[in-house]
Amino acid sequence: MTAPSFSKTGLVCILLAALALALTIALPAQAQARRLRDLEAALNGPKPVPVMDALGELAGMDDPAARRLVLRALATSRDPAVVDCARDLLLLRNGMMANSARPHYETGKVPPILDLARGEMVFVFDGPIPERVKETLRREAASRFAMPIREMVCPWDFSAASVPLRSQYDMELMLGAVISHLGTTQGRCVLVTDRDTYYPGRNWDTGVSTAFGPVSILSVRRLDPVFFGGRPNDSTLCERVRKVFIHELGHTYLPTNRHCPNWDCVVHATQSMADIDRLTDHYCEPCGAIIARTVRDVAEGFPLEPPH
Ligand SMILES: [Zn+2]
Ligand SMILES: [Zn+2]
Repeated sequence: MTAPSFSKTGLVCILLAALALALTIALPAQAQARRLRDLEAALNGPKPVPVMDALGELAGMDDPAARRLVLRALATSRDPAVVDCARDLLLLRNGMMANSARPHYETGKVPPILDLARGEMVFVFDGPIPERVKETLRREAASRFAMPIREMVCPWDFSAASVPLRSQYDMELMLGAVISHLGTTQGRCVLVTDRDTYYPGRNWDTGVSTAFGPVSILSVRRLDPVFFGGRPNDSTLCERVRKVFIHELGHTYLPTNRHCPNWDCVVHATQSMADIDRLTDHYCEPCGAIIARTVRDVAEGFPLEPPH
C-alpha cells in the first residue's frame, strides 16, 4: 500500500526536520558552554588551551560569562604577562585603544598607573564629591575593612565611556578603563564618581565591581535625593552611599558577581532607589564568612584561586 507508506515517510521526514532544527538551536549553546569550560580551565593551567590563546578567545566572545572570566584573570592572576594580556584584550574589546592606551600597548600598561599595594584601599574621587560623602566612606572603610586608606583625585580619562545620547556613562567601559590603569592589584580601588552611570541593559546603576577583583565604581549622582526632585538631605545621601559601598566591596571579595538571595544581606540585588533604602547594611553569615576570609587573604597576599 503506497499511500500509508508515503504518509509514514512524510511523518519521519517531518520528525527528522524537527530534530535537526532542535539540534541547530541546542548545539551551539551547548558547544559554547563546553568551550567556556575549556577556556576557564585553561586560565588555571596550561591545558587544554594555552592561557594567552584562551584569553584572546574569551575576550572576543560576545558573552557576559566570557567577559567575567577575563575580568577574573585580570583580578586574580599572579602572572604579570597574563594580567597585561587580559588588560590589553579587555581594552581592545572595549574599543578604548584609540584613547591614551595605544602608544603604550607594547608594555601593556596605561599611564597614569595606580599601584594597589597589598591590602590597601585607594579612593579615587572623580568630580565634585561632597565632603560628607568622603567622610562616610573613610569611616566605613576604616571600621569595616581595617585597611590602610589612600586618596587621590581621579587622573583618568573616561571620555571613551561617555554615551552622549543618554547623557550617561557606560559603567562596564569605565570599569575596563580603571583596570587598564592598574599596575599591581593587591588592594582595592574604589572610584567614586559624580557621573550619571548605567550598566548595559539597565536604565541607571549606582555601582559596579569586578567579582573577586580589585575595582569598585560608585556613582553618587542618583543617590542624592535632589536628583529625583527631592529636598537636599545629607543623611539620606550618606546612608545610601554607605550601603552601596558595602554592597560593592562585598562583590570584590566574593567569588562571583551573583547577588545574595537573603534580603537581610547587603549583597542582595536592588532594582530601585526604594530597594537601596530598604537594604540592610550588613553581610549575612555565609557572605560575611567568605568576605572576611578574602579580606584576610588579600591583606596577606592575593590567593591564587577564588573561594568556592
Ligand atoms: Zn551588586
Ligand atoms: Zn549574603
